[in-house]
Order: sequence, then structure tokens, then C-alpha cells
Amino acid sequence: MLPKYHVYFGLLASIAVYFISGSINALIFFFASVFIDTDHYMAFVFKEKNWSLKKSYYYWKDEHYPYDELMVFHTIEIWFLLLIIGLTIKPVLFLLAGMLYHELFDIYDMNKRKLYDTRTISLFAWSIRNFK
Ligand SMILES: [Zn+2]
Repeated sequence: MLPKYHVYFGLLASIAVYFISGSINALIFFFASVFIDTDHYMAFVFKEKNWSLKKSYYYWKDEHYPYDELMVFHTIEIWFLLLIIGLTIKPVLFLLAGMLYHELFDIYDMNKRKLYDTRTISLFAWSIRNFK
């Protein structure tokens, strides 16, 4: 899903979070729901050895989705780690909630575009498949 849609949907949900839990948590939620996709940029830099944010944007926009792509912030292990941290540092739970909210739209979008198996959901499983 394009970043602009994550911004729109993130803003809508952040307004609800604001009324439920205040401005700081709303900001954290919004930040997480949009900037979770920085892992796309990290993956682009790692794969293409190119630091251009603009080229990264068009690279992913043009559906360069190979099989089993690793987007580290979109993995269960990172979410589980944030859950553990969030048990003691409450705002981290809003970071996690924003990321999971974002993921709902990613799953919807990838299903709509029939991009199955293009992105791994588990860092651990990806590591086993890719580091033999
Ligand atoms: Zn995403």
C-alpha cells in the first residue's frame, strides 16, 4: 500500500487514539503506523546499494516484490519484542498497535494484488531459509 494511504488511515485512527489515550500516545501510534515502512527503504539500500529515497519509493511502487522479501519491522519477532518491552514501558504498546494497524492494511492490499509469499512474516523462519 502506498505511504499516502497509510498516512490517511493512520491519521484517522490516531484521532481515535487521541480521545482514548491522549496526544503523546496518538503521535506514537501515528508515527508507527506510517514509519514502519522505513524497512522498505532499508531493504532497498541493502539490496541495491543505493541511498536514494526517491528510487526506493519507485522501486517498491513498481511492485518489485520478489519471493520471500524481508521487511524487518513487519515480522512477528519484532512485534513480540515490542510487546515484551511494552509490558513495562506503556507507550511502546501504542508503537506496536500502530504497527499492527498498518499491517492490517498491508495484508488487505497484498491480498488484493495477489502478492502471496512475497514478504516473510517471521524473521526467524526467513533467517533459516536464507542463511544455510
Ligand atoms: Zn507496510
